Amino acid sequence: MSSIHTSSVSPHMSITFCGGTGSVTGANFLFEIDTSAYSKNKSFKILVDCGLEQGSEAAEKFNQQPFSYIPASIDVLLVTHAHADHIGRIPKLVKDGFRGRIYSTPATRDLAEVMLADAVHLLTEESGHLHKPALYEETDVQTAFSLWHTIPYYTPTDIGGCVSMIAKDSGHILGAAMYELHVGTNVCPTLGAFTPKTGGTVPTAQKKYGETVIVFTGDLGNSPALFLRDTDSIAGADYLVMESVYGDRNHESKEKRRAELAAVITDTARRNRTLIIPAFSLERTQDILFEMNELERAGKIPSIPIYIDSPLAQKVTDIYRRYSDSYNDRAKKLLAAGDKDIFAVPKLTRIENNRESERVDSFPNPKIIMAGSGMSVGGRIIRHEQHFLPDRNTTLLLVGYQALGTLGRALEEGVPEVTIAGERVPVRAEIKTILGYSSHKDSDHLVEFVSGAASTLKKVFVAMGEPKSELFLAQRIHDYLGVNAVVPKLGDTSTLS
Ligand SMILES: [Zn+2]
Repeated sequence: MSSIHTSSVSPHMSITFCGGTGSVTGANFLFEIDTSAYSKNKSFKILVDCGLEQGSEAAEKFNQQPFSYIPASIDVLLVTHAHADHIGRIPKLVKDGFRGRIYSTPATRDLAEVMLADAVHLLTEESGHLHKPALYEETDVQTAFSLWHTIPYYTPTDIGGCVSMIAKDSGHILGAAMYELHVGTNVCPTLGAFTPKTGGTVPTAQKKYGETVIVFTGDLGNSPALFLRDTDSIAGADYLVMESVYGDRNHESKEKRRAELAAVITDTARRNRTLIIPAFSLERTQDILFEMNELERAGKIPSIPIYIDSPLAQKVTDIYRRYSDSYNDRAKKLLAAGDKDIFAVPKLTRIENNRESERVDSFPNPKIIMAGSGMSVGGRIIRHEQHFLPDRNTTLLLVGYQALGTLGRALEEGVPEVTIAGERVPVRAEIKTILGYSSHKDSDHLVEFVSGAASTLKKVFVAMGEPKSELFLAQRIHDYLGVNAVVPKLGDTSTLS
């Protein structure tokens, strides 16, 4: 073995928080490395995620604004996962001049393809109605995918700028990765044109002498998840940029949410009702299908017809089926026992077009209709709600977070009447909420996650949460683990020693 690498040093580095501070959404972090000592370029710029701000008019204005950096100057974009608040501004980045390399896991690329195709379709429609230019066009999406490279989990890869990157499983949604960046002269490529190299100079995730290790978590999964693997450890990390969506609170137990779901379905069958479930197409639909499949096969709920009325959810579920290598042992055992499809509830029907979608409403009870969007702000769920909310023989089940100002939030709060497509709709259906279906770690588990690297961490940047969550979590990390934890503000730059 050569000993040449043991004399490595880390170059000057900084992180700028360009989005995803004081807010769950809009993740956008700029990591810069001073490479003037090794290369003719003065710095190497890595962007982690380029997400949409969501949930308010101010957020929409923020999305329209120019980026706080020059997109053409970015060398690499790392994409943690395919939720809109992590990928939603990638086509705008491209439209504004970015031509660097994009990296993600293969599953994230496949999911991003269907999510961005859906988003550009909606944006084009909306800009037509409002007579204003769209945030980006179809061609920008195409260009983004021409720049996209995929790297499987656990494959050390030199990405330039003295950085070797490893994607670890964050356990959040299919394909979701945390990026562990090993920075040091021992991973410096030779000067000149850089060619991406997989399986490069850092053969394992082991930190080498003189290296600095920075981890960007993206979103962290609610492990143990139903069918996805647990979140990996980040032992040895020096710096951490982490999410904090549930930084200030804990989830209800997984047994309780499962029992609640079983009770609602059993009640639907017993009282011969319609059950409507607004669900996000990515992850929540698959979670509910998996849970129903297991409950039904175990004889814990009656078998009743379920209609998935979301073309996007169907495409996403097909991708989930393809990546069974990302499943945890529980799901793999089901496959090994002969369950060919972990999402195939026995009486499941896919609704393909609008005509079928309308016909479903008149199908006999009991039945379950699941459709997007998860907060009832668009999609086919709206028409079903218009039809079924006045019906006393209907239950509407909320299984996800409902943002302030959405129809879903109004229903959750128990309003007696809503307005849908200009029509006043009385709410006579029973509204139920199950809070426990989250794909994020809660406060206790976020602290436990950080504790795995407490002995080496120099600083933790707590981001991607409401201000209250960020501050609470930073305080807990400091008090319980004795680790320096800070809450960066939008636009802050922090130099890493
Ligand atoms: Zn996410």
